[in-house]
Amino acid sequence: MFESSVIEISKSALETNLKFLRQRIGPNTTYCSVVKGNAYGHGTEKFVKLSMDCGVNYFAVYSADEAYQIVNSIENRPDIYIMGYVENEAIEWAIREGIEFCVFDLKRLETALMYANKLKTKAKIHIELETGMNRTGFDEQGIIAAGDLINKQAGLFDLRGACTHFAGAESMANNFRVAQQIGNFYKSMLIVSRTGLKPTYQHMACSAAVINYPQTISNMVRVGIMQYGFWPNAETLIRYSGDRERTNKYIKRIITWKSKVMSIKKVKKGEFIGYGTAYLAHQHMTIAVIPIGYAHGYSRNLSNTGKVLIHGAEATVIGIVNMNAITVDISHIDAVEKGDEVILIGTQKE
Ligand SMILES: *Cc1c(COP(=O)(O)O)cnc(C)c1O
Repeated sequence: MFESSVIEISKSALETNLKFLRQRIGPNTTYCSVVKGNAYGHGTEKFVKLSMDCGVNYFAVYSADEAYQIVNSIENRPDIYIMGYVENEAIEWAIREGIEFCVFDLKRLETALMYANKLKTKAKIHIELETGMNRTGFDEQGIIAAGDLINKQAGLFDLRGACTHFAGAESMANNFRVAQQIGNFYKSMLIVSRTGLKPTYQHMACSAAVINYPQTISNMVRVGIMQYGFWPNAETLIRYSGDRERTNKYIKRIITWKSKVMSIKKVKKGEFIGYGTAYLAHQHMTIAVIPIGYAHGYSRNLSNTGKVLIHGAEATVIGIVNMNAITVDISHIDAVEKGDEVILIGTQKE
């Protein structure tokens, strides 16, 4: 209510991004929206609600606590899939709530079986296949063992998916490894089908793979970064467009973070500005103080380098980012007044 800055999330930008992504994946592929890490910093609850307004109803999180947050903040709960950390009682909770989760070792499979049996409810699982990332996932022997167990207890499992994750699909430098992973995935899928398992979905593509390896789109994708309007890296944008065009031609950033000028002051040449000796005024300067700092997530690494927009012009952070404030150089910007809008992330004028 008396906030020193606000974050806005643009529905029309999100619609643009989803439209672009849906065109890429086609009508027969299920879109799973990745909202781990507080929806990549955009705020889980708000982002999930907005996505649901745009027709998304399947979300992937990293851990059970993130799933819990969605369950507890959103009515008409969407489908939720936990890709990473869920153990012990969280597995029981997930099964009771009908939340899907990834299984990558026999121990978790046995725990899931134990709770599914206790609750007389099917565990909705995705089995992860090791293809070369070497993080988590079943190897060939593991798939056979998991297949045996799932087949024996078919009444207690709903096999929602079989999946893997690429170790860097955004960069051509990883092409050899990613290509091997794609091959390994299909080899492992053969073993999966020989065991008689029939996962509903087979999924491997993240944002970068949707663009760089469209052959991996299959019947489900897990897209994070691009739905927020960011290309995975510059290389992926250049490969896609053939040209380093402005990012917002295809997708648009949905976030804007803005604050206001709190104070304006003139500083004489030769004076230090802010804590210590990080910034020495090399000429007479006009500076503005903005009431946001590293406590709000404005990284201290932006000391002496960050840029904000005021009146549509760039103003550089001078000195150290403080806990609750930054100071910026507005010497070159005319007629700035206390209360003027400051864009920390986003656009202003042109
Ligand atoms: C984060 C993540 C994704 C989404 O990746 P983006 O590059 O943001 O699209 C997909 N799958 C898994 C397993 C992830 O951890």
